[in-house]
Amino acid sequence: TFKYLFTPQKIGATTVKNRIFSTGHMTTYVENGLPTKQLIAYHRERAKGGAGLVIVEANAVHPSAAFTSNTLSAYTDEIIPHYRSMGEAVHEFGCKMFVQLFHPGREVFPSGTSVAVAPSMVPTDRFGVMPKALEKDEIKDIVKGYAETALRVKKGGLDGAEIVASHGYLASQFWSPRLNLRDDEYGGSFENRLRFLTEVIDAIRKKVGPDFTVGLRLSVDDFEREGSTFDEVVDILKYIDKDIGGLDYFNLIGGSSATLASSVFIVPPATIPPAHFAPYAAKIREAVSIPVMVGSRINDPVIGEKILASGQADMVAMTRAMICDPHMPNKALREEFDRIRVCIGCNQACIGHMHDNIPISCLQNPVTGREIQYSVIAKADQRKKIVVVGGGPAGMKAAVIAAERGHHVSLYEKSGELGGQVKLARKIPTREEFGELVPNLKRELDYYRVNVVLNKEVTSELLQKEQPDEIILAVGGKPFYPNAEGLESSHVLNTWEVLEGTDQISRKVVIADWKGDMPGIGVALYLAEKGHEVELVTNSVHAGFSLQQYVRDMLLGRLAMKGVMVTPQHKLLKAEPGKAIFENIYTAQKLEREADTLVLAYGHIQEADLYNDLKEKFTNVKRIGDCMVPRTVEEAILEGFEYAASL
Ligand code: SF4
Repeated sequence: TFKYLFTPQKIGATTVKNRIFSTGHMTTYVENGLPTKQLIAYHRERAKGGAGLVIVEANAVHPSAAFTSNTLSAYTDEIIPHYRSMGEAVHEFGCKMFVQLFHPGREVFPSGTSVAVAPSMVPTDRFGVMPKALEKDEIKDIVKGYAETALRVKKGGLDGAEIVASHGYLASQFWSPRLNLRDDEYGGSFENRLRFLTEVIDAIRKKVGPDFTVGLRLSVDDFEREGSTFDEVVDILKYIDKDIGGLDYFNLIGGSSATLASSVFIVPPATIPPAHFAPYAAKIREAVSIPVMVGSRINDPVIGEKILASGQADMVAMTRAMICDPHMPNKALREEFDRIRVCIGCNQACIGHMHDNIPISCLQNPVTGREIQYSVIAKADQRKKIVVVGGGPAGMKAAVIAAERGHHVSLYEKSGELGGQVKLARKIPTREEFGELVPNLKRELDYYRVNVVLNKEVTSELLQKEQPDEIILAVGGKPFYPNAEGLESSHVLNTWEVLEGTDQISRKVVIADWKGDMPGIGVALYLAEKGHEVELVTNSVHAGFSLQQYVRDMLLGRLAMKGVMVTPQHKLLKAEPGKAIFENIYTAQKLEREADTLVLAYGHIQEADLYNDLKEKFTNVKRIGDCMVPRTVEEAILEGFEYAASL
């Protein structure tokens, strides 16, 4: 039972019904700078699922604040009716809603529409941007933008707003002595560097009055040379709390957008332990007088409860936990722990989609981002007998959804264990938690009473006996061998064979990678951690090219620490005993490497034998997932979901 998680919390003028909240995060459910119906449906689902508070993503307070092409524009009154619609959607469930008051300063995405501005002309490494130094009248105009936007939030009937100074965004650029090189009243001394924030808070308060909640989101440490350290942040927060005043809460996270390494903390991937920033929050909570909220991979309500019980924070951000399962709070409250779908920190469909400028979803939960269509899985008019062949993610998801629709479903898996390729993927260092998607799906199979049959090879005879109404084939793929000479040599293995651990691997290993995907980089780390001397040669422009940026950079950091050599832009031509020969993709110049073992990381192709047999004998066979065409896990789950939802 939870003693703390489901107790109310007062933050300024707002009383939140429980301690669980969703932090502001970019959804890309934005059109012409305004929220879409999908954004309203998305937040409504979080509120319906039991969140106490939802904070709406970055709202640009000024035309110079559009850091991506999908940033909400809140600097005109056009946004007010949209706030009203969003507020009504969440208030219906007793959930509160705040808005992020946002200005990125110099941290503008390449897809952003604004010219980067900053206190001083200090470039940002991650985006390669040289900002324009703000002139004083521009500073005043931005300050006014914060205040007027806060008033719009209030007029729209929402409950509060927070100034975003986290991740190296504008307010923190002013307070860092390494980013703020000004010699006017906004630079130099500690007080001068805090003047911008002081003016913003004062201007907001003057507009919204005391009965509206105003907070500050910030990083406990930027983890980059030019940003702020934890000790500096503590001093800043003490000063804000005691000398500036006017705020109702601090919402803590870590990291900075400024560099590839520090940006990993913005949405920490699975290598960063859950609740990583909670100990920092605890120290800050001791030093200040207003409520402290904290986030960072708090993916389990029990972890949230521990943070609250130990006094580390007053509220816990469980953003991805609710992207993955928006009904997690209500399930936790009802103690239905087996029904909670746990976020695995893969970053693939949430922040990964946002970085690709496409609407966010969840790898494990295709309903996220499709709430208008799928928030209720309707019962089918007619109960069918459905056989699913193959217990990988696509087959498992299809079986779950078909059973949820009320069909009688049997799932056959030829091996003794469900999971498909995920069983191998979880052997990769840093991907252990990825494997948790299998138990998540198993619990769903149990809940919807799918008849799971392991160690059973499905044949046309078996299907003729069963006479199902629908056959869903999800038998997966097999490793792909590229068009290169000598691959039949015994020193050539594929990534599946490496992870299965059945073959002897020599000390010196070369990995030939195709498109910068997880198998190549992951197996490089797997072997390096086992003590092999590894070189990763990729056909792609750089290693990990296909991966979500934070996941990629964390892996590249690990490879560098293990001394793995990475050679990009080379395609495998030929394997010879003890050797691998590559070709530069631009110059065709040859590159020869000694390789006692050559590992092929060329992905996979569809397993078509069973389909070719069945299609002659049955008219009701549908292929999904890798056995149709190679898929990401996200695509496979979505395909299983959508097909089963249509039955
Ligand atoms: Fe969590 Fe991955 Fe879903 Fe994002 S996509 S919410 S990290 S499980």
